[in-house]
Amino acid sequence: MNIQELQEKIVQLKKEKDVCILAHAYQSQDIWEVADYVGDSYGLALQAAKDAHQNIVMCGVRFMAETCKVLSPEKNVVLANSLAACPMAAQMNREDLIKLKQQYPDYKVVAYINTTADFKREVDMIVTSSSAVKIIKKMDADKILFVPDCHLGTWVAKQVPEKTFKFFNGGCPTHCRMTAEDVKRARTEHPDAEILVHPECLSEVSEQADYVGSTTGIMKYAADSSSREFVIGTENSIVQHLQFAHPEKRFYPLSKMCVCMNMKATTLMDVYHSVNGDGGEQIELPEQTIEESRAAIDRMVAFGQ
Ligand code: SF4
Repeated sequence: MNIQELQEKIVQLKKEKDVCILAHAYQSQDIWEVADYVGDSYGLALQAAKDAHQNIVMCGVRFMAETCKVLSPEKNVVLANSLAACPMAAQMNREDLIKLKQQYPDYKVVAYINTTADFKREVDMIVTSSSAVKIIKKMDADKILFVPDCHLGTWVAKQVPEKTFKFFNGGCPTHCRMTAEDVKRARTEHPDAEILVHPECLSEVSEQADYVGSTTGIMKYAADSSSREFVIGTENSIVQHLQFAHPEKRFYPLSKMCVCMNMKATTLMDVYHSVNGDGGEQIELPEQTIEESRAAIDRMVAFGQ
């Protein structure tokens, strides 16, 4: 079977078996083409909540599949590749957070969505990179303990100077590979290009960018901008997706190192087996975990409106 035949088989199977395929934007182009919805963490969470299919195949990392299960506990949620897990979500567990909260009893805990369902039970609010500033501004709290990504947290804190922030020393190992040196080189090699980066990047990178925003924000900015060239400072699959979508423009990666091996773990063949019912990992969560983490996710959706 070639790629096109495999894609046709997947499309046929998902109709027969009432399956919705959700794909994170960092997935490869062949997976995008068979997905019912492609988006960032926030978009996937919203889509999972309103989708009518009985079966969901998540092409992304584990915390995304857990979020789907929390929002739709009555559905079968399958993670297309069980090895796909976000290293940032593993940097801090619920016990670590309970200890940290004891150090900052008068702070409200705001957690990035890139955390486990078990971790989300302990937090006051969940945010994504696209909703963090808006939600934290709306919160009735002046002191914010932002976990686990200190780079995203530092960027958010600059947009909300009226509040006080504390951080945990976590971050995305993929986005942290890009440095100020990469920005300097990109400015020399592509002097007419705009540099668009994700807020998970180090401050030394985001401070020098022309635009800082979520994956969806970067894609929208590039679509709307009158510029012809862009340097992209997020997972490198976005460079390829943008080039497909806008062949009249040119897109360059800020660094060839910005590749997330966990996002790349899922293959089109994994998607096929997951849809067929003989692959992937069925996500199961304790009822208490679903109830308690659901409350935090519901607050995110309500505040993000
Ligand atoms: S890109 Fe970073 S935050 Fe996203 S899944 Fe990979 S390691 Fe986690």
